[in-house]
Amino acid sequence: MRQFNVVVLGAGGVGKSALTVRFVRDVFVENYDPTIEEQYHRPIMVDGELSSLEVLDTAGAEQFTSLNEVYIKVGVCKSPGERCSTTSRDAPSNSLTQEVSLKEVESLRKQIFRIKGSESVPIVVVGTKSDLVSEREVPTTTIESLASRWNLPFYETSAKRNWHINDVFEDLLRQMRARYPPD
Ligand code: GDP
Ligand code: MG
Repeated sequence: MRQFNVVVLGAGGVGKSALTVRFVRDVFVENYDPTIEEQYHRPIMVDGELSSLEVLDTAGAEQFTSLNEVYIKVGVCKSPGERCSTTSRDAPSNSLTQEVSLKEVESLRKQIFRIKGSESVPIVVVGTKSDLVSEREVPTTTIESLASRWNLPFYETSAKRNWHINDVFEDLLRQMRARYPPD
């Protein structure tokens, strides 16, 4: 079974942990410790093929830390003995339904391309907390047009309601399989 690495990036509080934990454990965590940085793994069946996803839920208020740079470049395997592929390193930018986090997505995208030295990096842009309808600041059309200008897939998700969480990771996996075909 092939293994692929995913890095969840985005500003603090946008819902990275909730998204990750919903995907790997299928529960909604209301108050996940914002300082916890954790790598999870989960098998996932897509298009009749089973793969293993290593999902790194990043933490820390500082978005552009050197640590992030390392994550984007080589990936991190925390449990000893685990094989850590450096080529299937992939990063979804994680956005919130907050105006300010859009800028974050743009910076992340540039940072990812710079660090990877390539623009053919599997990325999915995620809008989180779509259940918080009354608190929405970013119209769907705004981010949709941004994402399409960037040529990146975009999903609006809710970890709370379990909306489109799997779509994010399935899309990433398809992109990663295409980008990194087996030897
Ligand atoms: P992180 O700092 O990016 O990891 O953000 P968290 O996952 O810890 O989420 C920050 C806050 O947003 C927490 O209070 C979560 O309960 C809340 N949150 C995260 N995802 C959702 C969601 O899909 N819906 C709602 N209503 N709240 C969410
Ligand atoms: Mg978190």
